[in-house]
Amino acid sequence: MERGPGTRGIMAVVTVLGLFGASYRCDAQASTAPTISWTIHDTTRAQPPAVDPGPSVPAARPPSDAIILFDGRDGSEWRSQNGQPLRWKIESGYLESVGGTGGISTVRGFGDAQLHIEWAAPTPATGVGQARGNSGVFFMGQYEVQVLDSYRNPTYPDGQAAAIYGQYPPLVNASRPPGEWQTYDIIFRRPRFNERGELLEPARITVLHNGVLVQDGAALTGPTSHRRRPPYAMHAERLPIGLQDHDSPVRFRNVWVRDLER
Ligand code: MG
Repeated sequence: MERGPGTRGIMAVVTVLGLFGASYRCDAQASTAPTISWTIHDTTRAQPPAVDPGPSVPAARPPSDAIILFDGRDGSEWRSQNGQPLRWKIESGYLESVGGTGGISTVRGFGDAQLHIEWAAPTPATGVGQARGNSGVFFMGQYEVQVLDSYRNPTYPDGQAAAIYGQYPPLVNASRPPGEWQTYDIIFRRPRFNERGELLEPARITVLHNGVLVQDGAALTGPTSHRRRPPYAMHAERLPIGLQDHDSPVRFRNVWVRDLER
Protein backbone atom coordinates (compact mmCIF):
# COMPACT_ATOMS: atom_id res chain seq x y z
CA MET A 1 0.00 0.00 0.00
CA GLU A 2 1.48 3.34 -1.04
CA ARG A 3 1.01 5.73 1.85
CA GLY A 4 3.85 8.17 1.46
CA PRO A 5 6.75 8.51 3.89
CA GLY A 6 6.21 6.64 7.12
CA THR A 7 6.10 8.49 10.43
CA ARG A 8 8.83 6.23 11.79
CA GLY A 9 11.15 7.17 8.94
CA ILE A 10 10.54 10.87 9.48
CA MET A 11 11.14 10.52 13.23
CA ALA A 12 14.42 8.70 12.56
CA VAL A 13 15.61 11.60 10.39
CA VAL A 14 14.55 14.10 13.06
CA THR A 15 16.43 12.11 15.72
CA VAL A 16 19.60 12.00 13.61
CA LEU A 17 19.40 15.75 12.95
CA GLY A 18 18.99 16.32 16.66
CA LEU A 19 22.06 14.21 17.50
CA PHE A 20 24.20 16.29 15.17
CA GLY A 21 22.92 19.57 16.54
CA ALA A 22 21.11 20.67 13.39
CA SER A 23 18.64 23.42 13.98
CA TYR A 24 15.13 22.11 13.47
CA ARG A 25 11.86 23.91 14.05
CA CYS A 26 9.19 21.27 14.02
CA ASP A 27 6.30 23.73 13.94
CA ALA A 28 7.40 25.51 10.75
CA GLN A 29 9.16 22.75 8.85
CA ALA A 30 7.68 22.34 5.39
CA SER A 31 6.90 18.81 4.37
CA THR A 32 6.69 17.19 0.98
CA ALA A 33 3.31 15.86 -0.07
CA PRO A 34 2.95 12.06 -0.20
CA THR A 35 3.35 10.47 -3.61
CA ILE A 36 1.70 7.41 -5.11
CA SER A 37 3.59 5.16 -7.50
CA TRP A 38 0.46 3.94 -9.26
CA THR A 39 -0.60 5.78 -12.37
CA ILE A 40 -3.88 7.55 -11.76
CA HIS A 41 -6.98 5.48 -12.67
CA ASP A 42 -4.78 2.44 -13.44
CA THR A 43 -7.19 -0.38 -14.34
CA THR A 44 -4.52 -3.01 -13.62
CA ARG A 45 -4.47 -2.09 -9.95
CA ALA A 46 -5.97 -4.95 -7.92
CA GLN A 47 -9.73 -4.79 -7.36
CA PRO A 48 -10.33 -4.58 -3.60
CA PRO A 49 -11.87 -7.84 -2.32
CA ALA A 50 -15.62 -7.75 -1.75
CA VAL A 51 -16.81 -7.92 1.86
CA ASP A 52 -20.46 -8.43 2.79
CA PRO A 53 -21.15 -5.74 5.40
CA GLY A 54 -24.50 -7.23 6.41
CA PRO A 55 -27.93 -5.71 5.88
CA SER A 56 -28.61 -1.99 6.13
CA VAL A 57 -30.07 -0.78 9.40
CA PRO A 58 -32.47 2.07 10.16
CA ALA A 59 -30.88 5.50 10.50
CA ALA A 60 -29.46 5.94 13.98
CA ARG A 61 -30.00 9.09 16.02
CA PRO A 62 -27.03 11.49 15.70
CA PRO A 63 -24.88 12.17 18.79
CA SER A 64 -25.91 15.16 20.87
CA ASP A 65 -23.02 17.40 19.77
CA ALA A 66 -23.54 16.82 16.05
CA ILE A 67 -24.58 19.52 13.60
CA ILE A 68 -27.48 18.08 11.63
CA LEU A 69 -26.87 18.73 7.94
CA PHE A 70 -29.92 16.83 6.71
CA ASP A 71 -32.64 15.22 8.82
CA GLY A 72 -34.82 13.98 5.96
CA ARG A 73 -36.85 17.19 5.56
CA ASP A 74 -34.89 20.38 6.06
CA GLY A 75 -32.49 21.44 3.27
CA SER A 76 -31.52 24.76 4.82
CA GLU A 77 -27.94 23.71 5.59
CA TRP A 78 -27.27 23.33 1.83
CA ARG A 79 -27.15 25.49 -1.26
CA SER A 80 -26.23 25.02 -4.89
CA GLN A 81 -22.56 25.45 -5.64
CA ASN A 82 -23.41 28.28 -8.02
CA GLY A 83 -24.70 30.22 -5.00
CA GLN A 84 -28.38 29.65 -5.82
CA PRO A 85 -30.81 28.00 -3.43
CA LEU A 86 -30.84 24.22 -3.26
CA ARG A 87 -32.28 22.62 -6.41
CA TRP A 88 -31.95 18.95 -5.49
CA LYS A 89 -35.15 17.07 -4.64
CA ILE A 90 -36.26 16.61 -1.07
CA GLU A 91 -38.62 13.64 -0.99
CA SER A 92 -39.95 11.58 1.85
CA GLY A 93 -36.94 11.37 4.08
CA TYR A 94 -34.15 11.83 1.55
CA LEU A 95 -32.31 14.34 -0.60
CA GLU A 96 -31.78 13.32 -4.23
CA SER A 97 -29.22 14.60 -6.73
CA VAL A 98 -30.81 16.18 -9.78
CA GLY A 99 -28.71 15.91 -12.92
CA GLY A 100 -27.73 19.20 -14.47
CA THR A 101 -28.40 21.31 -11.37
CA GLY A 102 -24.78 21.09 -10.23
CA GLY A 103 -23.26 20.08 -6.94
CA ILE A 104 -24.39 21.32 -3.56
CA SER A 105 -22.41 22.68 -0.62
CA THR A 106 -22.98 23.21 3.04
CA VAL A 107 -23.72 26.76 4.06
CA ARG A 108 -21.20 26.43 6.88
CA GLY A 109 -17.49 25.78 6.52
CA PHE A 110 -15.70 22.87 8.12
CA GLY A 111 -12.09 21.85 8.61
CA ASP A 112 -11.35 18.80 10.74
CA ALA A 113 -14.61 16.91 10.97
CA GLN A 114 -16.35 13.62 11.63
CA LEU A 115 -19.04 13.14 9.00
CA HIS A 116 -21.82 10.59 8.91
CA ILE A 117 -23.73 10.30 5.65
CA GLU A 118 -26.09 7.67 4.29
CA TRP A 119 -26.62 7.17 0.58
CA ALA A 120 -28.37 4.87 -1.85
CA ALA A 121 -27.53 4.30 -5.50
CA PRO A 122 -30.41 4.32 -8.04
CA THR A 123 -32.31 1.13 -8.72
CA PRO A 124 -32.60 -0.49 -11.14
CA ALA A 125 -28.94 0.17 -11.83
CA THR A 126 -28.16 1.72 -15.18
CA GLY A 127 -24.83 2.41 -16.83
CA VAL A 128 -21.50 0.80 -16.11
CA GLY A 129 -18.32 1.82 -14.36
CA GLN A 130 -18.26 5.51 -13.45
CA ALA A 131 -21.70 6.02 -15.03
CA ARG A 132 -23.50 3.96 -12.36
CA GLY A 133 -24.65 5.81 -9.26
CA ASN A 134 -21.87 8.38 -9.22
CA SER A 135 -21.71 11.19 -6.68
CA GLY A 136 -19.11 12.15 -4.12
CA VAL A 137 -18.44 13.74 -0.77
CA PHE A 138 -16.02 16.65 -1.11
CA PHE A 139 -14.31 17.92 2.01
CA MET A 140 -13.31 21.56 1.74
CA GLY A 141 -14.74 21.40 -1.78
CA GLN A 142 -11.65 19.58 -3.09
CA TYR A 143 -10.90 16.27 -1.34
CA GLU A 144 -13.35 13.64 -2.63
CA VAL A 145 -14.47 10.39 -1.08
CA GLN A 146 -16.13 8.73 -4.05
CA VAL A 147 -19.77 7.69 -4.03
CA LEU A 148 -20.46 5.06 -6.69
CA ASP A 149 -22.59 1.96 -7.14
CA SER A 150 -19.67 -0.48 -6.81
CA TYR A 151 -21.82 -3.54 -6.25
CA ARG A 152 -20.66 -5.92 -8.98
CA ASN A 153 -19.62 -2.93 -11.06
CA PRO A 154 -15.87 -2.90 -11.62
CA THR A 155 -14.14 0.36 -12.45
CA TYR A 156 -10.65 1.68 -11.89
CA PRO A 157 -10.03 0.92 -8.22
CA ASP A 158 -9.03 4.45 -7.27
CA GLY A 159 -12.46 5.57 -8.47
CA GLN A 160 -14.81 3.06 -6.86
CA ALA A 161 -17.04 3.56 -3.84
CA ALA A 162 -15.12 4.83 -0.81
CA ALA A 163 -11.98 5.48 -2.85
CA ILE A 164 -10.16 8.72 -2.26
CA TYR A 165 -10.72 9.64 -5.85
CA GLY A 166 -7.71 9.11 -8.07
CA GLN A 167 -5.46 8.29 -5.14
CA TYR A 168 -6.43 5.41 -2.85
CA PRO A 169 -8.76 2.49 -3.56
CA PRO A 170 -10.67 1.30 -0.50
CA LEU A 171 -9.00 -1.51 1.46
CA VAL A 172 -12.03 -3.71 0.67
CA ASN A 173 -15.26 -3.30 -1.27
CA ALA A 174 -18.00 -3.17 1.38
CA SER A 175 -20.76 -2.09 -1.03
CA ARG A 176 -24.39 -3.01 -0.67
CA PRO A 177 -26.62 -3.48 -3.73
CA PRO A 178 -28.18 -0.44 -5.40
CA GLY A 179 -31.30 0.84 -3.69
CA GLU A 180 -30.09 -0.21 -0.23
CA TRP A 181 -28.97 2.42 2.24
CA GLN A 182 -25.23 2.58 2.82
CA THR A 183 -23.23 4.54 5.37
CA TYR A 184 -19.99 6.43 5.33
CA ASP A 185 -18.42 7.46 8.60
CA ILE A 186 -15.50 9.68 7.71
CA ILE A 187 -12.85 11.35 9.83
CA PHE A 188 -11.29 14.16 7.87
CA ARG A 189 -8.16 16.01 8.93
CA ARG A 190 -7.43 19.07 6.85
CA PRO A 191 -3.94 19.84 5.56
CA ARG A 192 -1.80 22.26 7.52
CA PHE A 193 0.22 25.03 5.91
CA ASN A 194 2.74 27.42 7.36
CA GLU A 195 2.46 31.16 6.94
CA ARG A 196 4.39 30.95 3.66
CA GLY A 197 1.76 28.57 2.27
CA GLU A 198 4.09 25.57 2.41
CA LEU A 199 2.65 22.22 3.37
CA LEU A 200 3.25 21.13 6.96
CA GLU A 201 0.90 18.14 7.08
CA PRO A 202 -1.14 16.54 4.30
CA ALA A 203 -4.88 16.00 4.57
CA ARG A 204 -5.77 12.62 6.06
CA ILE A 205 -8.95 10.62 5.63
CA THR A 206 -10.31 7.62 7.47
CA VAL A 207 -13.49 5.99 6.17
CA LEU A 208 -15.80 3.28 7.46
CA HIS A 209 -18.10 2.06 4.70
CA ASN A 210 -21.11 0.26 6.12
CA GLY A 211 -19.12 -0.07 9.34
CA VAL A 212 -16.08 -1.60 7.60
CA LEU A 213 -12.71 0.17 7.68
CA VAL A 214 -11.80 1.06 4.10
CA GLN A 215 -9.47 4.07 4.46
CA ASP A 216 -7.10 4.14 7.42
CA GLY A 217 -5.70 7.64 7.82
CA ALA A 218 -4.75 7.85 4.16
CA ALA A 219 -2.45 10.83 3.49
CA LEU A 220 -3.58 12.70 0.39
CA THR A 221 -1.18 13.82 -2.32
CA GLY A 222 -3.22 17.00 -2.73
CA PRO A 223 -6.73 17.78 -3.96
CA THR A 224 -8.49 14.98 -5.83
CA SER A 225 -9.17 15.33 -9.53
CA HIS A 226 -9.90 13.40 -12.72
CA ARG A 227 -6.77 12.12 -14.52
CA ARG A 228 -4.39 14.26 -12.51
CA ARG A 229 -3.13 14.77 -9.00
CA PRO A 230 -2.77 18.50 -8.51
CA PRO A 231 -0.45 19.82 -5.80
CA TYR A 232 -1.68 21.33 -2.58
CA ALA A 233 -2.53 24.99 -2.67
CA MET A 234 -2.94 26.86 0.61
CA HIS A 235 -6.55 27.48 1.55
CA ALA A 236 -8.76 28.56 4.41
CA GLU A 237 -9.08 26.45 7.56
CA ARG A 238 -12.83 26.08 7.02
CA LEU A 239 -14.56 25.46 3.72
CA PRO A 240 -17.91 23.89 2.78
CA ILE A 241 -18.51 20.17 2.41
CA GLY A 242 -19.87 19.38 -1.06
CA LEU A 243 -21.94 16.65 -2.68
CA GLN A 244 -21.41 15.99 -6.38
CA ASP A 245 -23.95 16.06 -9.19
CA HIS A 246 -22.63 13.43 -11.60
CA ASP A 247 -25.93 12.90 -13.47
CA SER A 248 -27.03 10.01 -11.25
CA PRO A 249 -30.07 10.33 -8.97
CA VAL A 250 -28.20 9.27 -5.82
CA ARG A 251 -30.13 9.67 -2.56
CA PHE A 252 -28.83 10.91 0.78
CA ARG A 253 -30.26 10.88 4.28
CA ASN A 254 -29.21 11.27 7.92
CA VAL A 255 -26.26 13.58 7.32
CA TRP A 256 -24.52 14.97 10.36
CA VAL A 257 -21.12 16.30 11.25
CA ARG A 258 -19.11 16.74 14.42
CA ASP A 259 -16.86 19.77 14.19
CA LEU A 260 -13.40 18.68 15.35
CA GLU A 261 -11.91 22.18 15.15
CA ARG A 262 -13.42 23.17 18.48
MG1 MG B 1 -17.79 11.14 -7.92
